[in-house]
Amino acid sequence: MSRIYLSSPDITPLEEQFVVDAIRSGWVAPLGPHVDAFEREMAGRVGTQYAVALNSGTAALHLVLVSWGVGPGDYIPTSTLTFAATANAITYTGATPVFIDSDLESGNIDPALLDETITKLRSEGKSIPAIVPVDVLGKCADYEAIGAVAAKHGVKVLSDSAESLGARRGDIRAGSFGDAAILSFNGNKIMTTSGGGMVTTDDAALADHVRFLSTQAREPAIHYEHKEVGYNYRLSNLLAGLGRAQLERLDDMIAARHRHRQMYADLFAQVDGVEIFQREGDEHDNCWLTAIVVDRPVTGWATADLMKHLAADDIESRPLWKPMHLQPVFADAHHSTTGSAESLFDTGLSLPSGSALTEDDVARVTTAIELFLGDRQ
Ligand SMILES: *Cc1c(COP(=O)(O)O)cnc(C)c1O
Repeated sequence: MSRIYLSSPDITPLEEQFVVDAIRSGWVAPLGPHVDAFEREMAGRVGTQYAVALNSGTAALHLVLVSWGVGPGDYIPTSTLTFAATANAITYTGATPVFIDSDLESGNIDPALLDETITKLRSEGKSIPAIVPVDVLGKCADYEAIGAVAAKHGVKVLSDSAESLGARRGDIRAGSFGDAAILSFNGNKIMTTSGGGMVTTDDAALADHVRFLSTQAREPAIHYEHKEVGYNYRLSNLLAGLGRAQLERLDDMIAARHRHRQMYADLFAQVDGVEIFQREGDEHDNCWLTAIVVDRPVTGWATADLMKHLAADDIESRPLWKPMHLQPVFADAHHSTTGSAESLFDTGLSLPSGSALTEDDVARVTTAIELFLGDRQ
């Protein structure tokens, strides 16, 4: 019996065909026709004019902030309920992350708290050039409210859409919100290039500068000439080929994740004290991961109990992100918290959600959960 993961890569003969094509074409380098085509196709998909393919989502966050001149002395508000990459990229620039708590329903950044925090930090004379809201687990943050806060304070918005490709909020597609957005194609994301990421934006100068920085900031000269510190962050043509195949299949992969969410909703429908996280309005989400939120006084069991039960069957499950303000590495960072993210960390559990789950996998997960619930009635 093989292990069932939260979100494994979903690879078919189409991906193989694209990668073999890349190898046979001779373009085995961090440039080539698949990179250019992948950028065009992804820009079309999210609805931006430009896209720059990089070797990770973290690199994408880093280079946008570098391009904007973010550095030591700057304070960058972001979600506390996120993967560490968001906070790490801010820290690479020398700026200080400021962790803002979640709205309890969506888990996404609380716009009123964001507004208050910027006002307070500005009154203390702090420099806040940009904010980095995150679309957690595939649900878009409250773009309208965040946009209004950003406009009020005159800050740039870098939207971390690493988890939300394919989702939208109203007319705004994930990857097109703000002055720039980033995507991730890590192995566990909604689609993958094994590792990779992208900057998406309507700002031509930003796209050019990010591309320039990502290839060691080489000036146009016959010899190697450098006026800026560069990075080696470009995506390989082989991996861009993989990405193009995945993008063709993205809608099918999202549909599979929606089916898994419905399966969990049916499974827990009669269980008092268990809610499907982010269920409200989720027809526009990509349902990257489905999580449950458990009210222990009502259920009589905690997420840790279910996690242990599933682990015994070699089924992976995991608590929601441990908030960044609780991470030892960021213990000294500024934060504005209400307890929502911490509560979601205590009560939330992500369940296997990947589009590559087979019918047998789904049956195994269902049976394991039914047995767990049956024992506790
Ligand atoms: C995965 C992820 C990233 C980083 O992407 P990589 O491609 O793994 O570097 C950034 N932010 C969030 C919210 C993520 O989930």
